Amino acid sequence: MCGDVLLYVAQTRPLIDAVRAKKDRFRMETNYFADLRDGVTGKRHIMYQQDIKNEIRDLLKKRNAVLLAHNYMRDEVQEIADITGDSLALSIEAAKTKADVIVFCGVHFMAESASILSPDKTVLLPRLDAGCPMADMVTAEGLLEMKARFPGVPVVTYVNSTAAVKALSDICCTSANAGRVVESLPEKEILFVPDRNLGRFIAKTSSKTFHYWDGFCPTHERLRPEEVIRLKEEYPDALFICHPECNPAISALADHACSTSGMYDYCRTSPAKRFIIGTEAGILYRLKKENPDKEFILASPALICPNMKLISLEDILASLQTMTPEVRVVEDIRIPAKHALDRMLAVPRD
Ligand code: SF4
Repeated sequence: MCGDVLLYVAQTRPLIDAVRAKKDRFRMETNYFADLRDGVTGKRHIMYQQDIKNEIRDLLKKRNAVLLAHNYMRDEVQEIADITGDSLALSIEAAKTKADVIVFCGVHFMAESASILSPDKTVLLPRLDAGCPMADMVTAEGLLEMKARFPGVPVVTYVNSTAAVKALSDICCTSANAGRVVESLPEKEILFVPDRNLGRFIAKTSSKTFHYWDGFCPTHERLRPEEVIRLKEEYPDALFICHPECNPAISALADHACSTSGMYDYCRTSPAKRFIIGTEAGILYRLKKENPDKEFILASPALICPNMKLISLEDILASLQTMTPEVRVVEDIRIPAKHALDRMLAVPRD
């Protein structure tokens, strides 16, 4: 009897899992309604997506808050945001506003950057568990060890890093300005932290000697050259554009490699009608919205960052109701980290 039950469970398990996965996918894709626990009263109630959006907008007004969404966020979060963009652009724009509160829909290091640039504002990150595996690949202790091995060599740190690592860096960079930042330094050698792929991409056109931290973005790293080659064969008229966080074998296949903001500009101005996109899936939302006459094909279904998909409308609502979780960078770290960011911002643009 017991054996029969086990056999039955073993046979039905995949079916149950498939139904669950379908339900989860439906909920994630449509987010039609949510079974919510009120952040203040603790009472459970059903809310439709539009009601949640309306309540978020009301609370944003009441709290004098601005809602920021990274380009990789879920569609419905980007749709309701006051500002969308890449991580640093969001923090810079938020600092310019008169808002008392920043609700940052992104990952932890992004909320830290907002706190570094706006110490007088309250920065909320609706899901504290939204981290970045690449940022976590380098610690302050690890960077100190690397600096000790290369005394006097300046540290160029990609903004996808923790505040503590930025604080130990000479200058920060983004994927849009990394080349200019590196060339602005008088030294002939640099330590590039933490993304080895972005570092190698920049090094291709630089005369400097690079020492890389061995970090990478697991989401971009999942894209395989075979996937790109197959899609290029299937759509010979399509241009392949990718983010420099991709592996060098992928960048080598690209018609154009650039930051997310660069991708929006490139696709808008290019006469091409079809693009294969080599970055996180969230970017498709705005690309499609801004270019309704063009087609965008995600280079791989693996290009989904689980951390970037954590924050839901329900999380934003709960965060605004409770004014938690807050991210605040302590002054001992904030001031040197801001120095590294300010030095980057002073690098002239093209
Ligand atoms: S996409 Fe990559 S770099 Fe961005 S948060 Fe996810 S893991 Fe980090």
